Amino acid sequence: MPFKDPLALLKFRCTSCGNCCKGTAVYITPMDVHRIADGTGKEPREFIRFFYDTFLPISKRDTFAARFGKRMAVMGLKWKSGRCMFLGKNNMCIIYDHRPVTCRQHPFNVTLSDTGAVERLSLSRIVPCLYEMDGKVNKRHLSNLLHWNDKQTVAYEKIVKAWNKTNLKVQTRNAFLRFIGVLSSSDRSRCVNTSHKKPGRGSLASSPVLTNGSGDFG
Ligand code: SF4
Ligand code: SF4
Repeated sequence: MPFKDPLALLKFRCTSCGNCCKGTAVYITPMDVHRIADGTGKEPREFIRFFYDTFLPISKRDTFAARFGKRMAVMGLKWKSGRCMFLGKNNMCIIYDHRPVTCRQHPFNVTLSDTGAVERLSLSRIVPCLYEMDGKVNKRHLSNLLHWNDKQTVAYEKIVKAWNKTNLKVQTRNAFLRFIGVLSSSDRSRCVNTSHKKPGRGSLASSPVLTNGSGDFG
């Protein structure tokens, strides 16, 4: 739906339809991994999944794309029955307080002015978003989320770039997880999910982070 006044979207209200948590690839950073692991008590490999270029249209230019031999993949959240594993039966996020930053920002694409104020807003179209327009989104909150997301993104992009320049003989997923600091060097067992199916509804967003998630604004 087009909006003449982009800030009219500040009346957005998430209806918790759950669409953005189903069949979408949610990119995560090491900071997200640490927060989720600390908050849930889960071991990172219990919820990390790698989305390969055979599954999503990932290219070498994607700043979250890590090299594994001849293939590229991005780190994301595991699915269970085609949904994010953290989406509850009632379509509510069961790790709401610990969820990835990108989930918090979804579905907003935000542009800030030179002074840091929210200047323009648009909505992600990666899934049908069944929102209502009787809510109240706080501009400062949105601006803070964008800064948080950007900070995480920039830091992780540097780590991925460094990984992609390494000449490790074995570029395994576990080696990558150790490289980014979410696995200890003593943990060498193998259990990362390796789904290489063709995509169902996984889709790329305009941001380097694949955004999705029950919004912060319901
Ligand atoms: S942000 Fe949109 S798609 Fe996601 S749960 Fe809320 S209304 Fe549904
Ligand atoms: S908000 Fe994010 S972490 Fe929570 S269920 Fe949705 S996709 Fe998963």
